[in-house]
Amino acid sequence: MEDKLDKILPQEARKVLRETFKGLVGKVPVEVFTGKAGNQYTEVTTGLIRVFSELNDKIEPKFHSLDSGKAKERGVAKSPTVLISPDKYNIRYVGAPLGEETRTLIMAILIASSEGTILSDQALKRLFELKEPRHIQVFVTPACPYCPQQAMNAISAAIALPKLVTAEIVEMYENREYIDKHHIVTVPFTVINGVPIGTGVKPAELFIEEVITLAPADRLSVSVSGDIVDVDLVIVGGGPAGLTAGLYAGRSGLKSVVLEKATVGGQVLITPVVENYPGFSQIGGRALVDVMYQQALQYTQIFEGEDVVDIHKDNDIFELKTTRRTYKAKGIIIGTGAEHRELKVTGERTFYGKGVSYCATCDGYFFKDGRKVIVIGGGNSAATDTLYLHSIGADVALVHRRGALRAEEALQRSLRERNIPVYLDSVVKEINGKDAVSSVKLQNLRDNTVKELPVEGVFIAIGYTPSNDIAKMLGLALDKGGYIKVDGRQRTSMGMVYAAGDVTGGVKQIATAVGQGSIAAITAFEELATPYWKEKV
Ligand code: NAP
Repeated sequence: MEDKLDKILPQEARKVLRETFKGLVGKVPVEVFTGKAGNQYTEVTTGLIRVFSELNDKIEPKFHSLDSGKAKERGVAKSPTVLISPDKYNIRYVGAPLGEETRTLIMAILIASSEGTILSDQALKRLFELKEPRHIQVFVTPACPYCPQQAMNAISAAIALPKLVTAEIVEMYENREYIDKHHIVTVPFTVINGVPIGTGVKPAELFIEEVITLAPADRLSVSVSGDIVDVDLVIVGGGPAGLTAGLYAGRSGLKSVVLEKATVGGQVLITPVVENYPGFSQIGGRALVDVMYQQALQYTQIFEGEDVVDIHKDNDIFELKTTRRTYKAKGIIIGTGAEHRELKVTGERTFYGKGVSYCATCDGYFFKDGRKVIVIGGGNSAATDTLYLHSIGADVALVHRRGALRAEEALQRSLRERNIPVYLDSVVKEINGKDAVSSVKLQNLRDNTVKELPVEGVFIAIGYTPSNDIAKMLGLALDKGGYIKVDGRQRTSMGMVYAAGDVTGGVKQIATAVGQGSIAAITAFEELATPYWKEKV
């Protein structure tokens, strides 16, 4: 019995979850609908819900078959389907809630029990203006680290406005008909009232705007006025640099806040495996982010889904307007990281989300059954993504424009050991297809021959460009590549503004981002508080 339970949820995880479920406020009825027995997805789903209910009796499970009257009454036609508090809310999970999606299910149960929300006051206020019904579908996969947040946006809306909003979270790999319908192979993907709204996780305020208007919203189209909050330090960006800065700022006594416009973790969140961060010989990117996040949270406030829309300085005080509120701060640390670089070839934009992806961790799952994909790039990201795609069962090849890779030798050795094909001196000239990617035009630069390579997925990992919007708003000095110029103490060209991590260029390692985040916070402390041992830094 223990063995079986361990397979569904290891003992250590059950221990943590027992503690987490102590936060349950009211009872949460959970209905599970399944078809034929013996299917791995239905077994995992029923097993998971059973384990949850054994950990806390406020979770009240009921199991029904797909051909039962109850299934008809609830309008359930797919197996497995999980309904949460179905007499009160319209929240359903279609598919097995595996991997990252187990998080979603746990959070959904927790907030359904307390009528809670992850939405800000502003987002809720806007949501209450809704007059017509909305059916929100968020398509997800178990490996997608961004999916739980977008799913929780939808679930929170369904809890806040149960008479008008229904939330349906769909595991897309098991429900491939949706892939055929929308030709979408990137997640999270959101559809509201049948209207495809877009991919990615959105800050709560923008998400609700999309719910109201049934159209994609960007940050410029939403203006929000909220509270004014005084802090010593605003840290913009929740990657390793920002989280470490928050940790050091809090420990030195500064009141700080970390603002992350999407989900904390930065590039690490989508790195399948990290093998060069000291202290961990091998750790998943998401797991490393979790550890950093939990530690930082003891010393600083961290807000996800909060985007800075305006920033200016008045009498030595910085005023930052975000999608939620206004911060007044004595100093700023910028750790906004970098964004993926585009290849800029025909078909790249057209097929983005339809086979073209910049996130192997998020979207690789669609190709796991021996489907043909390529990764483009010669650095550590391309090599790591290739190894990940191979490990989940995709038929993957690597394409690089030079005669050798620049990825570190350990990764290159792993590629060789697995006999993964590498097309060197080769470039993709075009990405082709009808509704989705079906091939690429590959040019061999040695003999200039061009061939059509049949592939369903194209993963582009050709480096990053700095996310320097905030730096530009402040008018900071940037280098030729757009990276923020800093001195040895992470000071930028503006007093009391510091920068750390990938946005400053350099070697772009987790270890260096963490180092720079700590230096930035220590320097900020010394310059803000001027302790006696640092009267002149
Ligand atoms: P990178 O090291 O900058 O490599 C980018 C690769 O893409 C290069 O091989 C480059 O080719 C190629 N490229 C650039 N533009 C291209 C274009 N238009 N067409 C075709 N190819 C193009 O980027 P990265 O691999 O994302 O890594 C970024 C940083 O993160 C690095 O410092 C890396 O060490 C770090 N990182 C580390 C790990 C790890 O240690 N496990 C994992 C991921 C990232 P050329 O070689 O010809 O310039």
